[in-house]
Amino acid sequence: MSIRIDKTKCVGCGQCRMVCPGSLLYADTAGKAEIRYPRDCWGCTSCIKECTVQAIRFYLGADIGGRGSFLYTKREGDLLHWTIVHPDGREQTITVDKNEANAY
Ligand code: SF4
Ligand code: SF4
Repeated sequence: MSIRIDKTKCVGCGQCRMVCPGSLLYADTAGKAEIRYPRDCWGCTSCIKECTVQAIRFYLGADIGGRGSFLYTKREGDLLHWTIVHPDGREQTITVDKNEANAY
């Protein structure tokens, strides 16, 4: 698993850099986010949840059937929409209300 950053979408807000627990993200010379050592990304998804412009794609590993599918998130108030884009272009979205995130 790892992420890819679309620099055409990145606005250089720095939020992803603040939350990466491995300090893997940094600003390039244009102030856009970049990842160093992509293989060290352990897929915590913190950065994609912070990116409000959907510039970060999280690629699902082959071990869970990823085959090129990726994930991005979109925040809407207390709702966080998790969208998986399959290799054939199909999209599936799961919405989580942060007020109920720990409910069983
Ligand atoms: S959170 Fe998104 S827009 Fe902000 S620096 Fe990171 S990739 Fe760029
Ligand atoms: S998924 Fe987690 S470990 Fe990987 S770059 Fe984003 S914040 Fe860092």
